[in-house]
Amino acid sequence: MNLCDFAPEYIRSIQPYQPGKPISELAREIGLDESYIIKLASNENPLGTSPLALDAMINTLHDIALYPDGSGYELKAALSKRYGVDPAQIILGNGSNDVLDLAARVFLKPGAAAVYSQHAFAVYPLVVQMIGANGIAVPARDYGHDLPAMLDAITPETRIVFIASPNNPTGTLSGEDELFRFMERVSRDVLVVMDEAYYEYLPEANKPDSIKWLKQFSNLLITRTFSKVYGLAGVRVGFGLTHPDVANLMNRVRQPFNVSSIGLAGALAALQDAEFVQKSYALNRAGMLQLTDGFRKMGVEYIPSYGNFISFRVKGDAANTPKVYQSLLRQGVIVRPLGIYEMPNHLRVTVGLESQNKRFLESLEQALSELN
Ligand SMILES: *Cc1c(COP(=O)(O)O)cnc(C)c1O
Repeated sequence: MNLCDFAPEYIRSIQPYQPGKPISELAREIGLDESYIIKLASNENPLGTSPLALDAMINTLHDIALYPDGSGYELKAALSKRYGVDPAQIILGNGSNDVLDLAARVFLKPGAAAVYSQHAFAVYPLVVQMIGANGIAVPARDYGHDLPAMLDAITPETRIVFIASPNNPTGTLSGEDELFRFMERVSRDVLVVMDEAYYEYLPEANKPDSIKWLKQFSNLLITRTFSKVYGLAGVRVGFGLTHPDVANLMNRVRQPFNVSSIGLAGALAALQDAEFVQKSYALNRAGMLQLTDGFRKMGVEYIPSYGNFISFRVKGDAANTPKVYQSLLRQGVIVRPLGIYEMPNHLRVTVGLESQNKRFLESLEQALSELN
């Protein structure tokens, strides 16, 4: 036996997470200038970063010889004020993925189970498998979460249910009433992780009042991120809101300095920049209409989305999907294939700037014409 054979089977069988193709990589592969390439593959903010956040981060560069504030005092204070929760209810993460991972490490162990939906965010099965726990994927309904079926899938071993709303990559939203009923019915000894990474992209009428539910449900963990509407994906800041006892356990297992000083400063400033958030929201609404209009004109089927991305179906059999993906790459447009999400006929595109959406639609039309 060699060393690696001693790693647990559940580690050796992990399928590595496939991120969106980096611009620099495609530039090398197709021999084109990076500036020619558009990446609409990772749900990043096409407006970049809030200028306030950028300034704040640049200012912290003078002090990066020092460790960050491991308690995240200032950012937690700002979040506490914004969301009306106690700082003791907040857990900061190196991106919200870190928070998902902490939840898994606190509540799962080999033999325990976690429930999530088919087509749900790929990080849930990943963090569950890393612990050696059992992931239970519940068949989706019209690409969305089937919450009653997820409730039924809970076993005595189940410690976590992951709910993404809106979900990535399907863009589906679970209704507020349906989510609330789920919370009422689920056992209090199961942690419900509500992943709200795209919350800020929801129209007001569709935003669930989930933070209010924390008062009532001690087993609720809401996760949000600075990676999407706030445009800080590169510095990795996310957070969770939960019962203080749950936050306390999660804080014990996190790395003492899991959020960098640059990230802390950027997030704090971004939180104050309401104008940037509003601009990003408005751009996304307009861009989503532009994309769905384009799809309709081309007869491309899509899954209506509440996020800053949309998944569309490539006509014909699944062999067409990589062809369209490759053709888009050759035209300098990076989107995301969804094979690992059991959606081999779909591709996901992030809503970009108007000019990027236009270029994507034209490139898609070209790619589809090459199929015939
Ligand atoms: C993008 C995304 C996140 C955010 O990940 P970070 O680690 O905060 O960058 C979380 N959940 C879902 C469903 C996402 O799509």
